[in-house]
Amino acid sequence: MTDVPFSCPCGEVKGTLYGAAPTSGNHVRCCCSACRAAVLYTTGVDLEDHGVELYQTTPDKISFQHGQDKLAVFFSPKKLLRFRVSCCGAPLFTMLPTPKFALTGVMTNLLADKTAIGPVAMEAFIPQPDGSSKHSSVMRLYGGTMWRALVARVTGRWKQTPFFDVDTGRPVAEVYIPTAEERARLPL
Ligand SMILES: [Zn+2]
Ligand SMILES: [Zn+2]
Repeated sequence: MTDVPFSCPCGEVKGTLYGAAPTSGNHVRCCCSACRAAVLYTTGVDLEDHGVELYQTTPDKISFQHGQDKLAVFFSPKKLLRFRVSCCGAPLFTMLPTPKFALTGVMTNLLADKTAIGPVAMEAFIPQPDGSSKHSSVMRLYGGTMWRALVARVTGRWKQTPFFDVDTGRPVAEVYIPTAEERARLPL
């Protein structure tokens, strides 16, 4: 297990992902339309069907050393919260809108070194010729991720999160809801 630094592209926001290893998280390439839309919305880059690489772990594994006050958050389809930074706009983390389900997806392109998390272990929402989608390993996605969240809930570790005020259950920044015009420009 390795502690891996991360940073937004402009360097204003810096932090650490603790205990990174292929067995302590899930390195996934997600091809869902919501991830694609979130990247297009925040960066202007359309990844099309190539997918977004995330490392799914629990929020207690994340801490910020600089620029935590630059965290901003918006609502994305599928009722997900997407944390971005206000300095350069980059998306950093994805999670459900409650701290009690201790799961966060870290954008791996912002990790200083991806070696510790190993190669992509599974692909989610892979587009199929008939227009549907499938996952390469349902067990890995739902088994490992759900299990880690459950353990964090039972042990109380879910309360160690830099993303929520656990007393109120509210995110640390006000949640922005993209306007109808902004949403209309996204591929959903
Ligand atoms: Zn996705
Ligand atoms: Zn930045």
